[in-house]
Amino acid sequence: MTRKSLFALSLAGLMVIADAAFAWPKGSISALPRSSTRRVAWTVDDGASSAALGRYVTMLEKNPSVKITFFVLSGAPGWSKYATRLKALQDSGQIQLANHTRTHRVLTKLSDAKIKEELNRCEAFCLAKYGKSTKPYFRPPYGEVDARVIRVAASIGFTKPMLWYGSFASGSGVASSTVLKSASKWIANGRILIDHANGYCTTNIFPQILNIFRSRKLKLVTLHDAFGTTPQ
Ligand SMILES: [Zn+2]
Repeated sequence: MTRKSLFALSLAGLMVIADAAFAWPKGSISALPRSSTRRVAWTVDDGASSAALGRYVTMLEKNPSVKITFFVLSGAPGWSKYATRLKALQDSGQIQLANHTRTHRVLTKLSDAKIKEELNRCEAFCLAKYGKSTKPYFRPPYGEVDARVIRVAASIGFTKPMLWYGSFASGSGVASSTVLKSASKWIANGRILIDHANGYCTTNIFPQILNIFRSRKLKLVTLHDAFGTTPQ
């Protein structure tokens, strides 16, 4: 098995844990600040499938009111392949790129130095390729986070550990019907939703997903929009 296919395989099962709103550790963020605007944050992780990531890019280009925050796994090649088009979407404010580490390790099992390295390497990639910092937002791979990870990340500027309140349960090998059911269950005002660009299970039903946001009268916002942080 090639290194590349191992990488893809290691990501294939990660959506399984991501269903409900968990009792996350203190300091974790899983919902948007209160607002008089009905709004929701669609966050999309990994990009393990370049082709799937490309479909998100095309959908965004066709739908300027759709906003997504991507949690970039900088070791995945799609973030380079689609950099020009993604950067245009970023620079217009339609998308935001946040930090999902370099190699998707379980941060709670790493040393302080290794946690910093994982975050710093993704940050350096995004700065070089996209010209903007991912700070202060990071999402710990697999949602594995504890007080030490939160403290170590904060010490290098990642002060917002972003978890989620509701998942599309998306991943490679998942049926689109499962994703639609999960999305329908969890999409609601004020929530941060997690999705993955690791296969076609969400991309095959983009019209239906967009219709849920529309019919529930929810505005899509990036984390910068919702938390008032300034992209750098
Ligand atoms: Zn991930």
